[in-house]
Amino acid sequence: MNERDSEMISSQLQYAGYELTDNEKMADVVILNTCSVREQAEIKALGKAGYLARRKRTNPNFKIGILGCMAENLGEKLFKLNGAIDFVIGPKRLHELASVLEGNGQSLCIGDPKEQHLSRDFDRKLGKNKCTAFLSIMHGCNMRCSYCVVPRTRGNEQYRPMEDIVGEAKFLAENGIGEITLLGQIVNNYGGRLMPTVDGKTPFVQLLERLDVLPGIERIRYMSPHPQNFSDDLILAHKNLSKLCPSVHLPIQSGSNRILAAMKRPYTSGRILTIVEKLRKAVPNVGISTDIIVGYPGETEEDFEETVSLFDTAKFNMAFIFKYSPREGTRSAELIDDVKESEKERRNQILLQRVQEASRHYHQRFLGKTVEVLVEGHARRGADTMFGWTPNHCKVLFKASENDIGKILSIQIDSSTTSILSGTVTENAQGKV
Ligand code: SF4
Repeated sequence: MNERDSEMISSQLQYAGYELTDNEKMADVVILNTCSVREQAEIKALGKAGYLARRKRTNPNFKIGILGCMAENLGEKLFKLNGAIDFVIGPKRLHELASVLEGNGQSLCIGDPKEQHLSRDFDRKLGKNKCTAFLSIMHGCNMRCSYCVVPRTRGNEQYRPMEDIVGEAKFLAENGIGEITLLGQIVNNYGGRLMPTVDGKTPFVQLLERLDVLPGIERIRYMSPHPQNFSDDLILAHKNLSKLCPSVHLPIQSGSNRILAAMKRPYTSGRILTIVEKLRKAVPNVGISTDIIVGYPGETEEDFEETVSLFDTAKFNMAFIFKYSPREGTRSAELIDDVKESEKERRNQILLQRVQEASRHYHQRFLGKTVEVLVEGHARRGADTMFGWTPNHCKVLFKASENDIGKILSIQIDSSTTSILSGTVTENAQGKV
């Protein structure tokens, strides 16, 4: 979500006449687009702002801006923490950036905007050699998971009109984008109760169907769905829509029903297993990844073992593991953070090891097989090594050239590790996307 916001910020400034630079020392304005989901991210952003503040001594016109969730969460406090910060803009007010930059003195733009700008995402400048793009379909979240600061920083759900999204996808396809990733805090909740279910199809599936027939769009992904709304029509869409990638990121957060209830996550481990089973039946090669939090207040060894057990039983092929940290303004911040840091780390390590094993095992199934890879760019292993992703979201390295960026190539997989597949190009499967 932040990556997409950063792209939107950059497009907005380019339309306003600014130029991007890769060299931070050359910049007249540096903007930190921040995240509040974890404490560590906030500490890093503050450290960076402190480092940048020194530039003001030699260049008084140099501007520092803090944008995103941390801006919304900490607001005016940020000026007190670092007096060199010039502007603070929350996620709902990003469209005001260019006009803020025209002003002088410190500016604070947080809270709800006077007008909604759900179509602002459309004003985008695509970078050179770009063949994949994020596409926001909604903003905000109506859930109130006890540990999460997002509803506070991004507000309640707002859905972009389906026509706008389809129009933006057409624009992307016409500009060389072959793969789109639909974004939403709960992306499968698109439309909520404001848009009707038609012939048993939820608004999200209706949108997927419209995007699936767009010429030029070869792959569709989405993130992140919520288990509660992971309906059967979406599972069927995975079976029936040829461009919908066989890859699902399904955040479970915990395998303990007791902890899920404490987190205000309205599902059980049984529901997760049902979704996974149905998905695998509909799409046998589907890749399923997840998010897990360890050390939530009150999480016992038994609760943790239930999480490990769910991870093993569901056979997730990848997971992001987070050690719980209380976030100001959330309900869980009022609870005693009673799982010791050392214990959180132990649980983290146990799960990380499981994830590595699962990922290695999943990757091995591709050895000797030919997979289709959308070539995205240069890998960090020498100029002729490129990287791309399979439909089920495995990263692949192979020898190819810059001219291949944007093509879908057939790659025979020769070796695999926990995180990467490596292979050899066999033929150009489909040409330019
Ligand atoms: S579903 Fe829960 S974790 Fe996800 S953004 Fe909404 S409140 Fe946060």
